[in-house]
Amino acid sequence: MIPAPFDYHTPSSLDEALSLLQEYGYEAKILTGGQSLLPMMKLRLAEPEHIIDLNGIPGLAYIREEDGHVKIGALTREAEMEESALIRAKLPILHDTGKLIADPQVRNLGTLGGNLAHGDPGNDHPATMLALGARVVAIGPNGQRAIPVTEFFVDFYTTALEPEEILTEIQIPLPPPGSGGAYLKLERKVGDYATAGVAAQVTIDATGRCTEAGIGLTNVSYVPVKATDAEARLRGSTLSEVDLNEAAGLAAAASRPSSDLRGSEEYKRAMVRVLTKRALQRAIARARG
Ligand SMILES: Cc1cc2nc3c(=O)[nH]c(=O)nc-3n(C[C@H](O)[C@H](O)[C@H](O)COP(=O)(O)OP(=O)(O)OC[C@H]3O[C@@H](n4cnc5c(N)ncnc54)[C@H](O)[C@@H]3O)c2cc1C
Repeated sequence: MIPAPFDYHTPSSLDEALSLLQEYGYEAKILTGGQSLLPMMKLRLAEPEHIIDLNGIPGLAYIREEDGHVKIGALTREAEMEESALIRAKLPILHDTGKLIADPQVRNLGTLGGNLAHGDPGNDHPATMLALGARVVAIGPNGQRAIPVTEFFVDFYTTALEPEEILTEIQIPLPPPGSGGAYLKLERKVGDYATAGVAAQVTIDATGRCTEAGIGLTNVSYVPVKATDAEARLRGSTLSEVDLNEAAGLAAAASRPSSDLRGSEEYKRAMVRVLTKRALQRAIARARG
């Protein structure tokens, strides 16, 4: 449980951090909350020779509404998001998600950027970001780029980030009026990673039709899953019982769970079906105010 030796760097600007990343490349790892990286280092699943701690760089933690988006700095802690009036009012799905992550100690340190950059399909925020149609902003030696979250999770523990890039911001489009979302998670005990988790976001027009739907799944494949067939089934529908049942079935079909200590493949798929319907029902209730 003792990590391999490493050099510890504390840059005070993004430029300095980028120079260090360029200098050390694959031998370096960024540290933010340390709540995923440090356990991996202690288990010797990761043995970076250089740790680049971003916590001394000012201006990377904020939550603000700007240009039709909620913009969240990558180093914003779970606890800060939990307390945010903006998130509670405009993105209740994100508030749901944060509250189901680990325990208050972990949430005091863990950051949104780290939760996404880690690329763990068991982490909860990726599904919510997929449901919300978010994008992430990364800065690297060639400047800044925005990456739609649909292109961000490329493989098991692997994201679209280059080794020399730093995730700086998460941009979430502000849901239009008539929108609501919810995140539900089945866990063996409080604070555990999901047996299965479902994020659902809907927008409903004045006639009661669904104009937009987003569904993301947690820990039921080697990457976070966007249940696109289920989303398409809901768009244009009146969100009837039949519509929800069929969408839930399509979400379950989109999952690729593996059997493990949390349950069999069949059980997890069944749980995706149940959670999708329940998350949609809660999202619809919120959308209808
Ligand atoms: C006991 C326990 C239970 C947990 N349960 C859950 C859970 O139920 N759900 C859940 O979602 N998470 C859970 N977590 C993980 C937790 O949410 C982590 O905080 C999160 O996964 C990583 O965020 P971090 O800021 O701690 O990142 P770190 O651990 O510092 O970094 C994680 C990885 O991301 C990279 N990274 C971090 N920030 C950036 C950045 N800005 N740019 C580029 N790369 C970056 C690092 O190099 C590293 O590879 C749990 C953790 C613990 C210890």
